[in-house]
Amino acid sequence: MYISLLLIYQMMPWKSIVLHPIIHPRFKFTCWLAAWQRLATVGRLLKIGMHVPLKCSFCNNAMETIEHFWKNELLWVNAQAKGTSGKGTLVSCCFVTLVALLWRERNRIRFEQG
Ligand SMILES: [Zn+2]
Repeated sequence: MYISLLLIYQMMPWKSIVLHPIIHPRFKFTCWLAAWQRLATVGRLLKIGMHVPLKCSFCNNAMETIEHFWKNELLWVNAQAKGTSGKGTLVSCCFVTLVALLWRERNRIRFEQG
């Protein structure tokens, strides 16, 4: 029974990333949305029936999905953020801020230049 439950509920790949109190709440919320794959990327908008340009706002080479943006980066940061060292906290803070700033820039490119 326990093993079957483990297979259903996989571990969150971002569980070590700490949302430190010094990080701006808006940045934490954006990173939280990204971790739960709830940012309004093109891939997600297509699933709910909206028609939007498919190309990534940054590279114009691929469809814009959460995986294209930062799934691999999320796994890397999770590995770096393990433990209670200062490095882990610093990596978490930088990553959360980077995700929020990239998402802000993506929205600026898509909606102001687009
Ligand atoms: Zn891209």
